[in-house]
Amino acid sequence: MKKIIILMGVPGSGKGTQARKLVQRFGFVHISTGDLLRALDADPNGDKEDKAKLAEMKAGKLVSDDLIYKLAFAEIQKNLDLHKSVILDGAIRTVTQAKKYEEFFASLNLLDEVIVIEIKLSDETSFNRLTKRKVCTACGFILPYSKENDLKVDCPECGEKLVVRSDDNPETIQKRIREQGNIAIQPILEYYREKGELFTVDGEKSIDNVDEEVVKLLV
Ligand SMILES: [Zn+2]
Repeated sequence: MKKIIILMGVPGSGKGTQARKLVQRFGFVHISTGDLLRALDADPNGDKEDKAKLAEMKAGKLVSDDLIYKLAFAEIQKNLDLHKSVILDGAIRTVTQAKKYEEFFASLNLLDEVIVIEIKLSDETSFNRLTKRKVCTACGFILPYSKENDLKVDCPECGEKLVVRSDDNPETIQKRIREQGNIAIQPILEYYREKGELFTVDGEKSIDNVDEEVVKLLV
């Protein structure tokens, strides 16, 4: 079992869902940079300099990559020291960041322990999944988008009407796909491919199928 698992994929590819499944099944520790920033914010004894950088970020200034690396690397190291594997999803958004993480793993002599799994999904399915999922007006059940589910109008749980949520706004989703879609992540995937660390699973399949494929790569 590898010690460092990096999940890559466009919005709606289900990398968060797969990360949760791996955490439950194997006891991996999910490293969330958002959670680390929130923890720093809530910690009255946090490093003063770090908290000052965070305050600047919150005031709408540039995201401090250095602060995020510092927090993420410390958290990764802490868990590796406890002999726990770590899982990253959505933490690496640029080639520069990918390189920084690789340098860090190299400094720990752990490059052989890195596996990058792309959950491959077309931008079209990404858009459909994010804008066409439906929710039950009565019980709150969420029906994920699929070609088959697209035709359903009644809640499979309670039989009431399913509707598309108004906050799944197509313009916002299109912006996310421009920023985090296939064109945007291609250079990062290429970087990992050249290093021989990249494996791909078909994200168009069901959550359970994707889970099965991911597990096969890990064990
Ligand atoms: Zn319902």
